[in-house]
Amino acid sequence: MKIVIVGGVAGGASAATRLRRLDERAEIVMLERGPHVSFSNCSLPFRLSGTVDDTDRLLLMTPRSFAARYRVDARVNSEVVAIDRAAHRVRVRDLAAGREYDEPYDRLILSPGADAVVPSIPGIEGADVFTVKNVVDIDRLQTFLTERGVRRVSVVGGGFIGVEVAVNLVEGGYRVALVEAAPQILSTFDRDMVQILHKEMLDHGVELIVGDQVARFDGNAMTLASGRVVEGEAVVMAVGIRPNTAIAAEAGLELGGRGAIRTDASHRTTDPDIYAIGDAVEVTNALTHRPMSLQLAGPAQKQARQAADSIAGRTVRNTGYIGSNCIRVFDLNAAGTGMTAAMCEREGLRYDYAYVIPMDKVSLMPDASPLHLKLIYEVPTGRVLGAQAIGRGDAAKRVDVVATAIKFGASVDDLRDLELCYAPPFSNAKDPVNLAAMVAGNLLNGDYRQVHVDQVRGLVESGAAIIDVREPGAYARAHLKGAVNIPLTQLRDRLDEVPRDRPVYLNCRSAQTSYNAVRVLQGHGFTNVANVAGSMLGVSLH
Ligand code: FAD
Repeated sequence: MKIVIVGGVAGGASAATRLRRLDERAEIVMLERGPHVSFSNCSLPFRLSGTVDDTDRLLLMTPRSFAARYRVDARVNSEVVAIDRAAHRVRVRDLAAGREYDEPYDRLILSPGADAVVPSIPGIEGADVFTVKNVVDIDRLQTFLTERGVRRVSVVGGGFIGVEVAVNLVEGGYRVALVEAAPQILSTFDRDMVQILHKEMLDHGVELIVGDQVARFDGNAMTLASGRVVEGEAVVMAVGIRPNTAIAAEAGLELGGRGAIRTDASHRTTDPDIYAIGDAVEVTNALTHRPMSLQLAGPAQKQARQAADSIAGRTVRNTGYIGSNCIRVFDLNAAGTGMTAAMCEREGLRYDYAYVIPMDKVSLMPDASPLHLKLIYEVPTGRVLGAQAIGRGDAAKRVDVVATAIKFGASVDDLRDLELCYAPPFSNAKDPVNLAAMVAGNLLNGDYRQVHVDQVRGLVESGAAIIDVREPGAYARAHLKGAVNIPLTQLRDRLDEVPRDRPVYLNCRSAQTSYNAVRVLQGHGFTNVANVAGSMLGVSLH
């Protein structure tokens, strides 16, 4: 059998090597438009900070090593320009030799990825605009910055690539402005959580501008829709990507609503001899069962393996994706999986969330630090829908646990009971995931009520009864406007100071002490009390 693969990086290269491991006799041809195969796209931004100190280190394999190790015929500078489905062959343009030829196939795998979008903004042709999509791009940018002695760079777009580029540029010694049209960066995080990352960017000197967009370029200076002018000597455009589906569309393969290639559960397109994987395909959201686009390396590689397995005659069944993701933003690690609260709203799901801020390990450990963890679950079933975690410590580990739970259809009670590793340098005996699930379970049981941090401003403005149950020293340093201080340690003796005729909101540092205070008051017959989720640690970010 002869298999031809279009695209030689994440999906394409993984499919090629899996195919070889399954069939020693198959003929495998991998055609890559660019000059490199199998490079680490995800590490490209790290070249800008010097974390990756040499561009060549981004190259993981070469056509020569593909031939030697896997007997894969990997051809670079080879663009597939058309698919002749009836004749089972592709038309290849050899970009180095300037000629075209036909390459026949029995099975074809499309893994052409996506191209970076460069919008047509007035004046853009006069600016030094760069994208960060492949090794050629990063080399071009790095060379420009070095040779021109650039000090100040503008980044347009606050998605994963824009943020990683901004962070690595700052760490590489550049001054950076980042402009994002939406009111927040990183849409996979909810607005309450992302404020932590906004602050981290600002604290590290990034000129972060959200809710504004580039209206015009004058050289490299950008005038925004608001009229604000952002000066710079180079511009990195990271506003999104467009799936490379032109040859698939011209060949009559069905595309989904977002223009990505539609495939079945074994990654076959509407032509059973043509498979498609990676950034160019539409996937199914495993929670909503709706089509979505997802540009992540993990799913691309899993699809590659499954497509190869299917071609080798094995039965595969893709059950969809939940979009687990993570990013480092300066000193913070941030991770998310599944549904955000915003997605639940859009889908019309009944949901709630627990927001806890425990220490990520025993607080006696010198590197212990708070972990912000938001656990989203369905009401009233308790089915786990998603999580977001941000902290200096291991946020991704907590989100990975939740991602695993979602995969197996777990409820918050399952998460509460999970037996997770514990020793003081790693976690607490009650891991943050267990703790969040306990809070969620208590809320679902109706044990107590909470108000979310984004409701607190309204409470303060309405003059609601807020009791701060921290000790006087902590209260004196900072407290919510109008909050009265009754420390938990004195609460049982000062019950007569707590109003019974209106709702009472209890606040502390991280909502744990105030939860205890809620239980004390409930035990003494107070029925209209609620905990402020996140408390001062959460509120201070809003
Ligand atoms: P690609 O890996 O992009 O490969 C597609 C290849 O096909 C390209 O090299 C292209 O030149 C070639 N091609 C296109 N058309 C043709 C044609 N007609 N003929 C021949 N060749 C063609 N994901 C994560 O999960 N975590 C991360 O931290 C992360 N960081 C990233 C950082 C950056 C800067 C970038 C750009 C991406 C990052 N990603 C990350 C996303 C991840 O790299 C992609 O999801 C993954 O590479 C998709 O694999 P793919 O095979 O579909 O596309």
